[in-house]
Amino acid sequence: MDTTLAGGNLTIVKHPLVKHKLTMLRDRRTPKKIFKELVDEIAMLMAYEATADLSLEPVEVQTPLEQAMGWQVSGKKLTLVPILRAGLGMVEGILRLVPSARVGHIGLYRDHDTLEPVDYYFKVPADVTERDFFLLDPMLATGGSAVSAISSLKRVGASRIRLLCLVAAPEGVRRLHAAHPEIQIFCAALDRELNEHGYILPGLGDAGDRLFGTR
Ligand code: URA
Repeated sequence: MDTTLAGGNLTIVKHPLVKHKLTMLRDRRTPKKIFKELVDEIAMLMAYEATADLSLEPVEVQTPLEQAMGWQVSGKKLTLVPILRAGLGMVEGILRLVPSARVGHIGLYRDHDTLEPVDYYFKVPADVTERDFFLLDPMLATGGSAVSAISSLKRVGASRIRLLCLVAAPEGVRRLHAAHPEIQIFCAALDRELNEHGYILPGLGDAGDRLFGTR
């Protein structure tokens, strides 16, 4: 692991269940159904960590026995933004934890001539400045899609954005830090490197194909 990247704006979620489930996810023999369930579960466990600093306000609650003080989440509303298509696999698990979150979507393709990512779909809730954003993509590989998606979110006024991915490559983390240094990245593993085709090594293969069975 490239330890120079850990810390700062990169948080590697080290919970034993995340490590266990991620290892199952990496296994080439893991069937599509289990793969999908694992992505869902890891995303939920990662969201647990990524929401650890949500602000709270005190509230009164009436128990069956007496009045008590409790807490409720306050502050900005949360929006999940999966990058199509593999990011979709992370949505349901996080929504189970934060059911009130809204869901936007960003679709990107790579322009054949410039090789730069271009939005083909962009839809987020209108009250952007009142929201915290969790951008979702299981694989932070070259970082091109994440950098572009964050630029698009900032363009419409989003200021508090976090990236949740499952596996990150050092190349992607460096590119994202260079383009958007304030963005906090949460991942379950920081892998060794990218291969010549842009796949993460050791990685888990093509997350979209394994989620949707299109291999
Ligand atoms: N996208 C994937 O799905 N897998 C990789 O390894 C890299 C990018």
